[in-house]
Amino acid sequence: MIAFASASDDIAAAAATTAKIERLAAYFRTLDPENLRAAARFATGNPLAARDDRRLAIGGRTLVAAARNVWGFDDAALTAAYRETGDLGEALARIWDRPAMPGLFAETLTPASFAALLDELASTDGGHRGARRPDFKGKTAGKRRERFCERVFRACGSPREVAYVAKILTGDLRIGLREGLVLDAIARAFERDPRTVRRAASAAGDVGAVALAARDGVLEQIAIRYFAPIGFMLATPVTFGSSYRELATGEWLAEDKYDGIRAQAHVRHGEVRLFSRTFSDISRSFPEVVRALSGAQRDLIVDGEIVARRDGAVLPFRYLQPRLQRIDPTPELQAEIPVQFVAFDLLAAGEEFLLDEPLLERRAQLALPACAGEAFALAPWHALDPGVSPDVIAGLFEAARARGNEGLMLKRADAPYVPGRRGKWWIKLKRELSTLDVVVVAVEWGHGKRNRVLSDYTFAVRRSAGDPELLALGKAYSGLTDTEIAEMTTWFLAHTTSPAGGHALPVEPKIVIEVAFDIIQKSTLHPSGYALRFPRIVRLRPDKAPHEIDTLADVERIYREMLDREGVTR
Ligand code: AMP
Repeated sequence: MIAFASASDDIAAAAATTAKIERLAAYFRTLDPENLRAAARFATGNPLAARDDRRLAIGGRTLVAAARNVWGFDDAALTAAYRETGDLGEALARIWDRPAMPGLFAETLTPASFAALLDELASTDGGHRGARRPDFKGKTAGKRRERFCERVFRACGSPREVAYVAKILTGDLRIGLREGLVLDAIARAFERDPRTVRRAASAAGDVGAVALAARDGVLEQIAIRYFAPIGFMLATPVTFGSSYRELATGEWLAEDKYDGIRAQAHVRHGEVRLFSRTFSDISRSFPEVVRALSGAQRDLIVDGEIVARRDGAVLPFRYLQPRLQRIDPTPELQAEIPVQFVAFDLLAAGEEFLLDEPLLERRAQLALPACAGEAFALAPWHALDPGVSPDVIAGLFEAARARGNEGLMLKRADAPYVPGRRGKWWIKLKRELSTLDVVVVAVEWGHGKRNRVLSDYTFAVRRSAGDPELLALGKAYSGLTDTEIAEMTTWFLAHTTSPAGGHALPVEPKIVIEVAFDIIQKSTLHPSGYALRFPRIVRLRPDKAPHEIDTLADVERIYREMLDREGVTR
């Protein structure tokens, strides 16, 4: 792994994307097939292939325990190194010491041998995304993972190897590479068309396999096929109420944004498989959808959202949750919470793959009667006039909310289906439920670039206007500017009520902030008895004193209003 580590350090040091691609391509060209396959995967920060259904679940704690067993260090040194670098791999590398007792087999790690070890661990661990296996949790599995990390650390002969091995195990290299750039580097290394490389990647779901095929000149052999999930196209968020400049050019259409779980359905010769966004096969969990689609009159790959729906009305996301927790739903649960697959895109029909067709064409083909039944529906859509006014968007948005949906999706009529991309072709519009004025009661050091600032705020409301007890309600990470965060860090350090330090610092409850959120839920997680979904800091409220913040009664009121809007009777 020495060469991988030094290539990665070189890539991290390059500022321009083109230079990063060039350096990665040069490294790829030096590798034999097995090392190329592994290194390409690792370069995306993935220990396993994207489509691999298994998972490793090696957490920071396991890595630290293993590292301590291998070379020994004291916690203060690790904490200081982590504070400095904001990255566990880098922190471990800083305090690395050559182990007194090297590995039993005096192994050296190459990308290929590391990949083989990871494969072995993933197989014995039995951990599956989306499905829990009995031997995945518990002490034995934890120890097995720790021993595995020890073995890997023992095989490292340098601090840079330790850094990258740890980064790969935790799934983030932090050298400025996204999968798209790795694919560009593959194209560059073996002089292939970048579009062909990308297409192969969405078909293979494994950058490693694509790198090999590019090297051997057989990219065409990796074709999109039924029952191999295709990367999901993603949307870019736009603030509700903006001027929607994106819509000024081209033709657009609007659809409701459903609040369920994304799913891709493959139907071939009456056989149906449903895949989740992580490419897990979730067919067993939604038998009614499988039944509905098995009646399809043609072969299809359909993109859509699975929602809970009763008597024709969409139910809020939390109704779907009990269904998501069950791999095999009982007939009672199916009757209690019926689900529906709402289809909004068509990726294949018969032998034809439609990803390069414009959205309107794919939509037209989707509208042909394919299958019937309560558990399948087509998402209705509206064509928007060019330069549509924000008022029209607001009207469509309110109508979507009135139907129980989360917001609006705006899609360009001529957009191809771009797997795995968050681009400007699809825009999502959501609006926060409400905002609350709260006080900050504790702060934490951030991660990554924010490791030297206190950027994570735990906030609280008052029990009541007459009772100053503060009840924590959640934690928010983002929203303020870098300057504000820096200034607040200085203030918090001077006003912590626990000067001894540590990761989380309780602070004097003086700073009032406004937080926005999408959903409010009952929860035992926080003393207030409620939790906010997706809280974000809107602004600091220096104009408000801590005794003026919102109270538990305000939280309860917003919660009740939310239920009323959803038409839930209590
Ligand atoms: P978010 O999860 O907020 O990032 O929004 C993106 C998600 O919205 C997608 O991954 C889909 O699961 C979901 N979604 C809901 N309705 C639609 C729709 N009409 N078109 C595309 N995605 C949708």
